[in-house]
Amino acid sequence: MKQCEFCYDLMEKTVWQCATCFAVQPWDDTITPFRLLNIAPHITVDEALLEKNYKTLLRDVHPDSHMNQSPQTQAQAALIASKANKAYDMLRDCKSRFLCLWSILNKKNGFEEVPLSTTKDVPFLMRIMELQEQAADALIPLEEERDRLLIGLQNSFEFFDLERFEQNLSRILYLKKLITH
Ligand SMILES: [Zn+2]
Repeated sequence: MKQCEFCYDLMEKTVWQCATCFAVQPWDDTITPFRLLNIAPHITVDEALLEKNYKTLLRDVHPDSHMNQSPQTQAQAALIASKANKAYDMLRDCKSRFLCLWSILNKKNGFEEVPLSTTKDVPFLMRIMELQEQAADALIPLEEERDRLLIGLQNSFEFFDLERFEQNLSRILYLKKLITH
């Protein structure tokens, strides 16, 4: 818990605004893109809710709403607006959303990138080659494989299984390239 800069009420650490006096707080580097836009961290996202929360946040930190406040508060509101833009772009796109979850799993704030290991996944590459040879329309088994991996990705996120998450994610990103080409 931390205290509001203005009314000294106690509040949760990862909020940008005091619930009592609505004062904008200094940016806290532990706020994740999901937290900022009030979305549960998950591999899928409710796009309508994401857009609604984003627009609400932008309106709340719009310069017009903070004209009579200190330059410091105005700067904090502008920073939150720029974080909101970044968070919205990240969470809308599945690849960057997955990488955001990867960052969070690694105890980062989700904005901060954590690279994936570049080890060559030979068993997986072999499996994909087999799948492609089996079917006349190679896309169907690849899409099935991807859907299976997506379930594994969500499970490994929920169980904080970093190793499995990274493996699933690397595989999904590899398949993504094959499927969209
Ligand atoms: Zn307050």
